[in-house]
Amino acid sequence: MIEARYYGKLSDRRLRCDLCPHGCLLKPGSAGLCRVRKNNNGILVSEVYGVLSGIQMDPIEKKPLNRFFPGSDILSIGTFGCNFRCPWCQNASISQCGSSSYRTGKSYTPEEVLLAAGRSQSIGVAYTYNEPTVWYEFMMDAAIQVKEAGLQNVVVTNGYINPKPLAELLNVAHAFNVDLKGFSDDIYRRYAGGRLSPVLDTLRAIADKGVHLEITFLVVPGVNDNLAMFKEMITWIRDCLGSKVPLHINRYFPSWQMDRSPTSISLLKEMRVLARACLDYVYLGNVPG
Ligand code: SF4
Repeated sequence: MIEARYYGKLSDRRLRCDLCPHGCLLKPGSAGLCRVRKNNNGILVSEVYGVLSGIQMDPIEKKPLNRFFPGSDILSIGTFGCNFRCPWCQNASISQCGSSSYRTGKSYTPEEVLLAAGRSQSIGVAYTYNEPTVWYEFMMDAAIQVKEAGLQNVVVTNGYINPKPLAELLNVAHAFNVDLKGFSDDIYRRYAGGRLSPVLDTLRAIADKGVHLEITFLVVPGVNDNLAMFKEMITWIRDCLGSKVPLHINRYFPSWQMDRSPTSISLLKEMRVLARACLDYVYLGNVPG
């Protein structure tokens, strides 16, 4: 556990976390919506600093990034917690767990992560598996060392982070995959427990900085499979981020609290045709072949 960054002190040892747009107000002893940042007697702490839920080599295409060092492997790490609550989450056992789970995780230092990346054939380190924004301090400490060693930093995120910490992260990150949940505020509020506009701000900031960006869109039946909304989304990507930003249209499978049938392949193919009219690189994910 270490003192967290990006927070303000209020009266009576209450705190306001400024890391993500939720802006949680925390009484002494209470944790934020992400469950892993806590008011410890008037100090905000990150309870999952270096507490890894997973550390393993993955193909870069699994992040997914198809146009960033294609064919390479990357050391991938994750901890616990998330600032969203998507009912279809495929990693709910680590993203939505309580403190009893993460207190059993194995602790690493940023130096040990760098060492592990250097020992393998990894191009660098991917911050993934659960939302890395909620373990910002460990991600930054590791990413600074990874960059200094001449390796790559890849951030796999929902994009729900405030502009200041994002600007700092953009100085050390080499590539992002941002998971776009849909193109309506209603979808974000109803399913993820967030808002759309901060995610769009994040996407614009990454593109403006010229950092490699790919977008993942998981098509969940009855949630975000409306074709009119999809057209609006791909038009926005083309007009605001550029037609060269790769889009991964992924098939949903039942997981955690959602048991609807998987997305139909024909719908995914229809979306691919529509997207290719706007964007240069469009991929289907979680589909055979
Ligand atoms: S990072 Fe966690 S504690 Fe901080 S504002 Fe977001 S959800 Fe709340």
